[in-house]
Amino acid sequence: MASAGKPFDDRDGTIWYDGKLVPWRDANVHVLTHALHYASSVFEGERIYDGRIFKLREHSQRLIDSARILGFAVPWSLEQIEAASNETVRASGIADGYVRPVAWRGPEQMGVAAQHTKIHMAIAVWDDWKAYFTPEARSKGIRMAWSKWRRPAPDTAPTAAKCAGLYMICTLSKHAAEAEGYEDAVMLDWRGQLAEATGANIFLGIDGELHTPTPDCFLDGITRRAVIGLAKARNIKVIERAIMPDELGRTQEVFVTGTAAEVTPVTEIGQYKFQVGTMTKTLMADFDKMVRAS
Ligand code: PMP
Repeated sequence: MASAGKPFDDRDGTIWYDGKLVPWRDANVHVLTHALHYASSVFEGERIYDGRIFKLREHSQRLIDSARILGFAVPWSLEQIEAASNETVRASGIADGYVRPVAWRGPEQMGVAAQHTKIHMAIAVWDDWKAYFTPEARSKGIRMAWSKWRRPAPDTAPTAAKCAGLYMICTLSKHAAEAEGYEDAVMLDWRGQLAEATGANIFLGIDGELHTPTPDCFLDGITRRAVIGLAKARNIKVIERAIMPDELGRTQEVFVTGTAAEVTPVTEIGQYKFQVGTMTKTLMADFDKMVRAS
């Protein structure tokens, strides 16, 4: 794509905006948009493989659910969101790329109360963001730091929603990790249990079994659920439970999962080191096959 690598407000192509495709550079919001000041925004991240959006239905449903959790209704049905997403992908001509639907409260009302704001929605597609981590990092495994930020309790923040406000501590964690030469950070939760990465879920391979934290205060990723299915199909035992960080001392392999991360091996978390193991390699290959299966 001619626009690859350019700033995200200065690209060719079109963006679906409140019901129609508009020129990319015209898809703007006013500076007094409620979402910009008070984080009243929900979004999705999706991948296009061979021209098809992977798990489109699940992502579109999660967008609707996230908005409901934040107290607003996306003014489009599940089917309309799916059709709009496919229309945007078709118009872009992109066969392998990334889709970003977003819904937010507009500028009709300022302040904490926002009952009368209009709800907007946009969908953008790009293809220079194929991998969250570089191909080299993906094949060798990534190094992760510990974040000083913790995932909040479900009665402290709307943790089941994929909403803008929850990413504040992810950006802070990621910046701190990158400043020290790491690729990403692992976040604990409010109880001190292992939670997730800044944009991906985490799995531990312990003695041939797969262990992953119960997603009771962070996103139950769509990739996470798909990978659990792939592991079970391989007769790998998957255990969802509370995991304390010192269990990494008896863990042989670790990987993270996410729409952008796919299945990415982890070779280091703070003081702990891991191999890119057999389970990780098997599930990476199975995942690559699944996303391209018609
Ligand atoms: N946790 C966070 C914080 C994320 O941003 C993501 C990416 N959406 C995930 C987990 C993984 O979710 P999914 O597999 O649905 O992309």
